[in-house]
Amino acid sequence: MSMTADAAIIGGGVIGASIAYRLAKAGKKVVLCERYDFAAGATGSCDQCVFLQSKNPGIHLKLALDSSAIFQDLSKELDYTIDYFKHGGMITIENEMEMAVMSDFAEKQKKIGLDVEIISRAEAAKRQRGLAGHLLGCTYSPQDGHVNPFKLTLGFVKAAQKHGALILIDAEVFGFKLESGRIKGIKTSKGDVEAGVTVLAAGAWSPVLAKTLDLALPIKPRRGQIVITEPVAPYVTGNLLSGQYIVAKYHPEILADSKSLAVRLGVGLSLTQTSKGDILIGATREFAGYDLRNTREAIREILKNASRLVPGLEDLHVIRVMAGLRPYTPDGLPLVGFVKDREGLFIAAGHEGDGIALSAITGVIARGLICDGKAYTDVSALDPNRFDA
Ligand SMILES: Cc1cc2nc3c(=O)[nH]c(=O)nc-3n(C[C@H](O)[C@H](O)[C@H](O)COP(=O)(O)OP(=O)(O)OC[C@H]3O[C@@H](n4cnc5c(N)ncnc54)[C@H](O)[C@@H]3O)c2cc1C
Repeated sequence: MSMTADAAIIGGGVIGASIAYRLAKAGKKVVLCERYDFAAGATGSCDQCVFLQSKNPGIHLKLALDSSAIFQDLSKELDYTIDYFKHGGMITIENEMEMAVMSDFAEKQKKIGLDVEIISRAEAAKRQRGLAGHLLGCTYSPQDGHVNPFKLTLGFVKAAQKHGALILIDAEVFGFKLESGRIKGIKTSKGDVEAGVTVLAAGAWSPVLAKTLDLALPIKPRRGQIVITEPVAPYVTGNLLSGQYIVAKYHPEILADSKSLAVRLGVGLSLTQTSKGDILIGATREFAGYDLRNTREAIREILKNASRLVPGLEDLHVIRVMAGLRPYTPDGLPLVGFVKDREGLFIAAGHEGDGIALSAITGVIARGLICDGKAYTDVSALDPNRFDA
């Protein structure tokens, strides 16, 4: 079977799905190819946070704020319930060093427009039960929220289909179609797709496909392991992160030589509860190639860390563990835009631990760049060519 489209999208994670929706809504003929099923990659093995406080002050936070504004009415727009809730979020502060870092972080975030403040331990305990006694306090923002990543992805997919997109699962992309050096589509297990624009949105696997074009992308898989508890009555209010989470995310170089196993594994608390009642306890940040296994040592360290910060969790039963691959980039920002010297290729990947939160705005940016030649705001910081020597 051979197909033609304005845009061929590789990857049925939240980013590919969001872009498929925006392009199809703009009247483009879209074909999306996913090798397994929707949300089979990081999107299906992550937390659910639309966390704003964890974003670097600057373009990173601005995009997260703009994305969060879209989430507000997205269920209605997609005509699909995505379970988005804005219950607020906190980041725990354990010592004076973290207090200094988080106070500075929060001050800078306020200047970008985030409503965030430092609250005492006593105030934090009113929002979240079971917190450790040794905490100095927390940062708090009422703007943090969460969304069901599966429903979000399916919502985008179904809305894209309503606008005429062809969405194929079990459709593995093997390579690109080339014509006089220009990328003219993709070769897949379900046939070729000839397309004006090819969108590479294969998350942590994007470099594997880019390599077939002799293109070295600065994206690396960064494993995150998560523990899932039995469903319980509402326990976690909003989302809770730890100060170490911020360090693990933005300063992996500090972690590599530490004597502490938890630190070396990049363990930072991430706590959230699903609508069904399961508590998700995360997570590690490890460079382990494409190895998707859970490890005993990481699970032990995640649980030790969680019960140190929230001793109230100790009585819960763990029923499952999972691991996903975040698409890491060296500066913590995704690559979104056309690729230099590979005419016809657009990339949208490298969202690390923020792809759920940034998915809504990534679709809007991609639509602008592809359909109008410009985005709604200056996105030069996301230029996929910025790491070129
Ligand atoms: C433990 C953990 C916790 C996280 N928590 C959060 C959070 O709370 N909030 C947040 O915003 N983000 C979070 N993230 C990050 C988020 O999950 C990712 O940034 C996001 O899912 C990336 O989406 P994606 O569509 O780019 O990639 P993916 O979801 O990985 O999708 C890529 C898709 O491409 C497909 N694919 C690959 N190769 C091919 C091929 N050759 N042909 C066809 N298809 C192919 C894959 O099967 C996959 O479905 C977390 C991640 C992890 C691992």
